[in-house]
Amino acid sequence: APAGSEPRLTHAFADALPELAVPWKAAPAPHPQLLVLDEALAAELGLDPAWLRTADGVRFLTGEHVTDGAQPVAQVYAGHQFGGYSPRLGDGRALLLGELTTRSGEVRDLHLKGSGRTPLSRGGDGLAAVGPMLREHVISSAMHALGVPTTRALAVVATGRDVQREVVLPGAVLARTASSHLRVGSFQYARATGDLGLLRRLADVATARHHPAAAAAGSPQDQAKALLDAVVAAQADLVAQWVLLGFVHGVMNTDNTTISGETIDYGPCAFVDAYDPAASFSSIDHAGRYAYGAQPGVLEWNLARFAETLLPLLVEEQDDDEGSSDRAVAIATESLGAYRPRFARAWRAGMRRKIGLAHLAGDDDAVDQLVTDLLGLAQTDHVDHTGLYRRLADAARAGSGAPARDLFLAREAFDAWADRWLVLSPDAAAMDATNPVYVPRNHLVEEALAAATDGDLAPLERLVEVVTHPYVERTGWERYAEPAPDAFGPYTTFCGT
Ligand code: AMP
Ligand code: MG
Ligand code: MG
Repeated sequence: APAGSEPRLTHAFADALPELAVPWKAAPAPHPQLLVLDEALAAELGLDPAWLRTADGVRFLTGEHVTDGAQPVAQVYAGHQFGGYSPRLGDGRALLLGELTTRSGEVRDLHLKGSGRTPLSRGGDGLAAVGPMLREHVISSAMHALGVPTTRALAVVATGRDVQREVVLPGAVLARTASSHLRVGSFQYARATGDLGLLRRLADVATARHHPAAAAAGSPQDQAKALLDAVVAAQADLVAQWVLLGFVHGVMNTDNTTISGETIDYGPCAFVDAYDPAASFSSIDHAGRYAYGAQPGVLEWNLARFAETLLPLLVEEQDDDEGSSDRAVAIATESLGAYRPRFARAWRAGMRRKIGLAHLAGDDDAVDQLVTDLLGLAQTDHVDHTGLYRRLADAARAGSGAPARDLFLAREAFDAWADRWLVLSPDAAAMDATNPVYVPRNHLVEEALAAATDGDLAPLERLVEVVTHPYVERTGWERYAEPAPDAFGPYTTFCGT
């Protein structure tokens, strides 16, 4: 953008899908103060960082200054929350400001969180606190640097408004970007209206925006099937990346499952320290529905809900054909059947990269057994998930298990495992390129957010600096690579704060 020029937002979503868009405006912030701005992202988006720092720019980032031609809307969607269906959710504290076209020609949503009440707020206050919005900034920045598809935080602005939670907290607005905010819940809402024209339009928008190859798939029915296939594939690959990294989303409701395959809504998410499939951090996830190891299964359930919404589009409309719904179910079932093998393939390939054996033949049972045995030892001994694979790379370099051995209580069992592994010549450099040194560990995130809430952004800036360069080990930053001290205790995260 020319210096000083205002952003030009489009409103293609609101135009194409007015049934899913409620025109609305953000609440003014009494005393807006820019806390963080991702200047590299601003530049990618064709936004002028210098303008974003002006008074008008900051009010643009809180939604108060609506630029020429923009038409902000609250988006309507439905969703299953912890398995229970809510017919009408939507942006209760968020707004879609519009779309931007990036320098490389891609369309991105610009969206606010914490921008005040909307007609979809139900009992909520429409607000967000500084801590959780900065949390989304830290973790989404880390995920992006780790190569995980994700929404991104452009800026966090403190509003100067108090937010009443268990205690009074400083308020904030997050400005984030996404390849879109279409979710499984958007389709659930459209399907529930019974308006097939709306559902078809939504499928066409989603296809054009995220899975354009599916538009070339022949008949409209083939295109709907191709859209389903593409979402299944993108989400299978996404959840495999989460599992490989030790990421726990924490609130995998169908309204938090995107059509694009991007990670969205960093609420009660966390990274595991100790490897444990049962790890669950969210204060409201008592049953562990969204536990670390449960995520692939839950995602399959969410994709089945998505497939159900598409059933009427999968077969030609025929009034008196009782077999047509059976045929639609058969088509959807076939598409969903690709999920498990796709996830398994992505996870298996990822685990081979993590232990430096990606160069070996794909169907070697001995390698699968190595992976299974390593994870078994790691789980039993509560081994630090992030640290383990970096120490294993050191072991590969040394030609000895010694650098990793002290992570385990069962040292002899580990030695026996390491002997089996080392004879296969693991590639240490490849391991260092795939296994991060730094992830936003829970205790570091909490420490940084507590300081930021008290007005000191320095710890947060250091954390963002290190987690956005996750693969390069640095001297002087050792504490960022270490698991939480025992004194940190069990970790609990909260939604919607
Ligand atoms: P989330 O946990 O961000 O995925 O939000 C789930 C649903 O609750 C969405 O419809 C949100 O818009 C809504 N919501 C969360 N917090 C608030 C709030 N403070 N005020 C109004 N709506 C909210
Ligand atoms: Mg939301
Ligand atoms: Mg959400």
